[in-house]
Amino acid sequence: MISRTEVGRMAALFLRAETVLPLGETNAVWSPGAVRIEDGTIVEAGPAGAVSSAGAAEIDVGRAVLVPGLCNAHTHLYSSLARGLPPRGPDPRTFREILETLWWRWDKLLDPDTVALSAEAGLLESARRGVTAVNDHHASPSAIDGSLDRIAEAAGAIGLRAALAYETTDRDGFAKRDQGLAENARFAARAAADRSGRIAATIGAHASLTLGEESLAELVRLAALTGRPLHLHMDEGPEDGEGARRGGDRSTVGRLARAGVLRPGTIVAHAVHVDDRDIEILAETKTVVVHNPRSNGGNAVGRAPLGALLRAGVRLALGTDGMSGAVAIDAAVAGAVHRMAEKDRAIPFDLPFRLAAERNAEVASALFGIRYGSIAPGFAGDVVAYAYRPPTPIRPENVAAHWMLGISESPVTHVVVSGEPVLVEGTFVRVDEEEILDRTRAAADRLRNAFHA
Ligand SMILES: [Zn+2]
Repeated sequence: MISRTEVGRMAALFLRAETVLPLGETNAVWSPGAVRIEDGTIVEAGPAGAVSSAGAAEIDVGRAVLVPGLCNAHTHLYSSLARGLPPRGPDPRTFREILETLWWRWDKLLDPDTVALSAEAGLLESARRGVTAVNDHHASPSAIDGSLDRIAEAAGAIGLRAALAYETTDRDGFAKRDQGLAENARFAARAAADRSGRIAATIGAHASLTLGEESLAELVRLAALTGRPLHLHMDEGPEDGEGARRGGDRSTVGRLARAGVLRPGTIVAHAVHVDDRDIEILAETKTVVVHNPRSNGGNAVGRAPLGALLRAGVRLALGTDGMSGAVAIDAAVAGAVHRMAEKDRAIPFDLPFRLAAERNAEVASALFGIRYGSIAPGFAGDVVAYAYRPPTPIRPENVAAHWMLGISESPVTHVVVSGEPVLVEGTFVRVDEEEILDRTRAAADRLRNAFHA
């Protein structure tokens, strides 16, 4: 057995597991199975005896199931240190009040160091939940310039992939809006020059309710200039639609489509308050709609019409919206809530698996310019081992059921990103988790005091 630091330095990595589920295009089950990763990319995978370990660092994950890593298609690492924050004053009654009394106060407290610590806290938890790639949407109005670099550094230190955007908004005036646009432009240039496939940029925007016509036009222009997708919230509460109708548009979707925001690759989070015509437009424009069920429940904003979105062929994905790092839990909630509420068997039983393991993989592939989400040659070397002890045999016909009801609920023992070990036998390889968490808890206390001051 070689040491963890040696593993980190080797160009080739060979992993062996009691069971390997390659997912992607195949339902194959390899028991035991193995995978060989070279220079970040999977070069061989299959039954253990058929995969070469020559010249590679070896990790035997033992009695575990090895599957591809997960992508969280919409999150806010900046909210990590707000977990457990007591409310300030009476409970907010509307979505807008939640923004005004909590998030628009919280994000102004963040400085460059707490931006970094928030990112570290969120990314450590993400890795422990099998997530190797996050699509983050960041806000820190008192520390805009360079904020995305601090998050990228945190992701690099821990070893995860991160697609980053700054939340452009008019809410704090046009000077701050312009700083937000500039931060997106600056980071997009940095990410374009990076060939690692580990960082990527999107062009971040808050939501229709805090963006005027000129700002929407600037965002569309910047997305075209950089060739990067827009990433924004849409129809989370009723406020977006009310504002769009006041401005003479039929709906938020109508307004954003008119402004050129909705197009292939654009990522919108939520789409809770959309009607049939909106759904048609989302499908026609090939907009990616990220569903965040636990957040929608937490904010009591309503429920995205998942059955109608699926039937229309809208490109769906799944996020946590900063609630936690565990995108697989949001997947489970999505399946349960929509099948219960809509009594609609058009929503497939294996929806949680399809969204989390497949649709989100498509999002990661597009964002990072890699092939993501399968243990197969040519795919990114992102794999995760779960300490799952199956009570029934895992067979090709029941891979999704085992993933949903067993694997994704089991402790994560190993995480490898781009062929580099991040977590080995439950311990982070590249960073001291406890030392970081001591600092994040101290920072969270300071922020809590400032929030309530
Ligand atoms: Zn969000």
